[in-house]
Amino acid sequence: MARAPTPPNMAARKVSHIGIAVRSIDSTVGFYQGVLGLPLEHVEDVPSQHVRVAFLPVGDTRVELLEPTKADSPIGRFLEKRGEGVHHLAFEVDSVEAALEGARGRGLKLVDNVPRAGARGCMVAFLHPSSCHGVLVEFVEEPRGAGRPQ
Ligand code: ZN
Repeated sequence: MARAPTPPNMAARKVSHIGIAVRSIDSTVGFYQGVLGLPLEHVEDVPSQHVRVAFLPVGDTRVELLEPTKADSPIGRFLEKRGEGVHHLAFEVDSVEAALEGARGRGLKLVDNVPRAGARGCMVAFLHPSSCHGVLVEFVEEPRGAGRPQ
């Protein structure tokens, strides 16, 4: 099945992070720090999503722990339904807007119709798992001038 090639600004550059839903960041970091030896880089509240996130870098990517700050929230409902575990896979792109437009052009179901502010000053947008073979996919655009790691 021939398809037009993906324009460079829509192509995924790397796995930005792997999002994991947890009941408590405090009781989870011990595993990632103690067993896997990952440093805790950054913890941040994202009030718009009623979630607290913690980033632990590993190689050129990160583990993102997501703890709900409210039961009735996307992560709270995920935990209720499925328990703790892998929640989403985030790909870094040059432009979330272009990547989203590309996904829309292919008729994919979007969670976010426009890019929105995510953690760490990034712009983000999610694609619906029903259009991504069962995976909740996130596009991440690093803040301007953040200096992409090599
Ligand atoms: Zn994420």
